[in-house]
Amino acid sequence: MAAAYNPYENMLNVLEKAAGMLGLAESDYEALKYPERELKVSVPVRMDDGSIRVFEGYRVQHSSSRGPCKGGIRFHPQVDIDEVKALAAWMSLKCAVVNIPYGGAKGAVKVDPRSVSKGELERITRRYTAAILPLIGPDKDIPAPDVGSTPEMMGWIMDTYSVFQGHTVPGVVTGKPIGVGGSLGRGEATGRGVLFTARELFARLGKDLSHARVAVQGMGNVGGTTARLLAREGCKVVALADVTGGVICEDGLNVEEIYQHCYVDRNFLDTYNAPGVIHCTGREVLCADVDLLVPAALENQLTADIAAEVRAPLIVEGANGPTTVEADEIFAKMGKYVVPDILANAGGVVVSYFEWVQNIQSLMWDEEQVNGMLEKVMRRAFAEVWDKAHAHNATLRLGANMVALERLVTAKKIRGIFP
Ligand code: GLU
Repeated sequence: MAAAYNPYENMLNVLEKAAGMLGLAESDYEALKYPERELKVSVPVRMDDGSIRVFEGYRVQHSSSRGPCKGGIRFHPQVDIDEVKALAAWMSLKCAVVNIPYGGAKGAVKVDPRSVSKGELERITRRYTAAILPLIGPDKDIPAPDVGSTPEMMGWIMDTYSVFQGHTVPGVVTGKPIGVGGSLGRGEATGRGVLFTARELFARLGKDLSHARVAVQGMGNVGGTTARLLAREGCKVVALADVTGGVICEDGLNVEEIYQHCYVDRNFLDTYNAPGVIHCTGREVLCADVDLLVPAALENQLTADIAAEVRAPLIVEGANGPTTVEADEIFAKMGKYVVPDILANAGGVVVSYFEWVQNIQSLMWDEEQVNGMLEKVMRRAFAEVWDKAHAHNATLRLGANMVALERLVTAKKIRGIFP
């Protein structure tokens, strides 16, 4: 039987391959194999029925070599420390790939946010914020949304932190509602970044994105937005999946209607019905006959067990860590192009950076400006990764890891080791 999947080992495996290709000595990147700090917290909360429940929470700071730590907070019932450690490391790599002045971090609370009331969710979020308070701050570590967390929750984090400081500190968290210092364009930023990346990939291959057939896994903020933007681009979105399974329609799904049903009205795909729509398994969506597949849910979705059946020649990773090392090798042998997570889904943290820059200078930019700057950053990063991968005859994932690693190692060398 294959060893249990460990996302942190997955991350290390790729990092070491990239370091080998760059000819780095182990001592150059040794420190990057370990997170700088790992905090585990207990989050006691009074539930609506008067009982007390204690939730488990984490905040992991992987690297602060290039700037304050940055990364979202995941609310998910199955989250564990290895996942948070991997996600934190991917944030360091992601911020380095797109060259924004941040390190990487990630947080999590082990809870299904749909299983608690809104009041309970607010108390969990505020108490978790209080528990990680010693680590966070606008020049130390800046949280943001991730799977299971929302702009509204970021507003509660900002308020809780500000109450403790005695004054309002908008720059402590990004992805906030617009009314309390959130940036225009942040809500759609990750999906928009996926779109820009897909455009670059298709252009490099001389293909036309606006006529592509597409499958998307995930109907959260990233999957939902990506599907909508690709449909607006002209793509035919023929297959979509969420945790309950998938839907397929050869003539193209009504993405706006499904987005409303799933993301806005908070239903699952299993209750969505329309003429011509066939219900299927999530696996069938990942293996659909399409030009482009966007896994935009969780880690460990494209595994060795499914890889040989995946028909899409092009994969753009909206999620963090959706492809295992084994699947990646199979995809490479099959001649597929996989635009890796640390590049493809970096649009979110790029606009988080713009939000933070606006907050600390008390500026407000318009949406056109934000989207235009995001496009510039994503295009430049794509070109750097593409060129690096081709120069080393490597996959785009290794290319992205090489670009990131060079920047992280350079920063570490310049700073030196204390003492
Ligand atoms: N959670 C997002 C990610 O994985 C965004 C992080 C951020 O904006 O800090 O990239």
